[in-house]
Amino acid sequence: MRISSTQFQPYGLELPAWVADYLVQQPGTYPTQDARMDLVSKLAQRTIPYGTGGPLGAGVFRLDTQELVASGVNLVLSSKSSMAHIKFVAMQMAPQIMGSHNLGAIGFPNHELVTSYEPCSMCPGAISWSGVRHIFCGARGSDAEAVGFDEGPNRQIG
Ligand SMILES: [Zn+2]
Repeated sequence: MRISSTQFQPYGLELPAWVADYLVQQPGTYPTQDARMDLVSKLAQRTIPYGTGGPLGAGVFRLDTQELVASGVNLVLSSKSSMAHIKFVAMQMAPQIMGSHNLGAIGFPNHELVTSYEPCSMCPGAISWSGVRHIFCGARGSDAEAVGFDEGPNRQIG
C-alpha cells in the first residue's frame, strides 16, 4: 500500500446532524438517572429512522449541574471504525469539551456515563481511562439480542 496524506491526519468522529438538531430541543438539564436514561434511549430510538448506526445511545453528564456534556451514537459504519461504539464516542468527546483528558481530575465535577446498552468487551477500558466515576446502563446484551441486535461476544461484563 502506498503512503497517503490520510495516514497522517488525526482520527476524528462526527455525530450525525440529527443529534444536534434533537439535543437543542431538549431541556438542558437532567436531574435524575431516569431523565438521563430517557435522553439516551431517545437517541437510540432515533438512530432507527435516520439509519445512522445501531440502535444505541449514550451520554456523559456532569452531576453537579446535571447537564449533558457529550452524547454518543453508534458511528461504526459511518466512520469506518470498529471502535466507534456509543460509549467510546461519548468518552472521546467529553474530555475535549471539558478541557482535560481526565474527567476524574482533582477539581473536576463528578461525571456519569449513561448508556442504553451494556458495555462490550472493548469499552470498559476507555471508560476507566476517562476518569468517569459513575456508569448507568440500560439494556443487557440479551435484551438487545431478543429484538434482533447482536454486537457480538461480550467477554468483559457479567
Ligand atoms: Zn463497546
